[in-house]
Amino acid sequence: MSVLTPKNLSFRLALALGGLCSLGSSLIWIINNPFNFTFSVSIFISTFILSYLFLLWGIKQYVDKQFKLIYKTIHSLKIGLKKDSQKVDIEEDIFVKIRKEVIEWDINNRAEIDRLQEQEKFRRDFIGNISHELKTPIFSIQGYILTLLEGGLEDERINRSFLQKAEKGINRMIEMVDDLDEISKLESNRIELKKQSFDIVKLAREVFESLEDKAKEKQINLKVLQEDKVINVNADPSKISQVLTNLTVNSINYGTVGGSTSIKFFDLHDNILIEIKDTGKGIAEEHLPRLFERFYRVDKGRSRADGGSGLGLAIVKHIIEAHQQTINVRSTEGKGSMFSFTLKKA
Ligand code: ADP
Repeated sequence: MSVLTPKNLSFRLALALGGLCSLGSSLIWIINNPFNFTFSVSIFISTFILSYLFLLWGIKQYVDKQFKLIYKTIHSLKIGLKKDSQKVDIEEDIFVKIRKEVIEWDINNRAEIDRLQEQEKFRRDFIGNISHELKTPIFSIQGYILTLLEGGLEDERINRSFLQKAEKGINRMIEMVDDLDEISKLESNRIELKKQSFDIVKLAREVFESLEDKAKEKQINLKVLQEDKVINVNADPSKISQVLTNLTVNSINYGTVGGSTSIKFFDLHDNILIEIKDTGKGIAEEHLPRLFERFYRVDKGRSRADGGSGLGLAIVKHIIEAHQQTINVRSTEGKGSMFSFTLKKA
């Protein structure tokens, strides 16, 4: 099928008009005079040129006006068509062009709507989750304070312990707000990594030492394997310390009494693979794909009572991804879990 451009259309119409006019005038001429070839040709040429120019101008004006209207309508929705698409190119098939532009706009528009709907759902879920999470410590603090106000303050058996419990609830809220602050910074890329070369084995030892008391409460043995080695990596030490802390705290929280947590390092050409393995309760396979989502919990009620914010693994994943590295989990329910991530060698 030939291309329908304003130029093409004007040419065809002008040709038809020129032909008709020259035929008509030739017929009139022939009735009164003998046939004159030069007269017919000059009528044809002049009609053709004049009507071609006039038609080209008219069609261009018309299309320009109509096309701009469509363009403006689409643009009033503020979704981008290219600026130069306002101009009518007389060499181009204008109707195909309009159709192409509208289809393009439709695709962009749908993608934009999907993105906005996704964001809206995320925002709603996030706010819903936060308020839900904060309710637990708020209600427990309220409970202790009310009991103290209603006479408990004078009762030597409970006044101190209730205040301590209320303080624990407040600490949980502070922890959660800190985690929320951290995650919002990580998600909006507002965290600048302070990368440097450091010994990851030494850092792991320090993290395990700081969690020794917590582990003892559950008689969990913390062990850094290859602890005499020096393995230098290039990363942000304070952020990686947070990763190791979150993973180790989880291994204790979801660990079994008398169990163990160990950390091991593997040389992978350009990277170092760090594995944290526990002998805890493990995670059923169906939960693994969603484990790093914010507020995702395997055992909803219990985890909340245990004191985690539900953001620990989401923060861990963000930090590792900010280092352009990956994190994985392998777990067998009832046997234990293993979290592994990579870091660039220094
Ligand atoms: P939380 O504050 O609930 O610990 P996380 O994001 O750190 O939140 O962990 C998400 C969920 O993953 C936990 O609620 C728990 O169910 C599960 N989980 C994380 N680490 C382990 C582990 N080492 N062993 C078993 N389950 C774990």
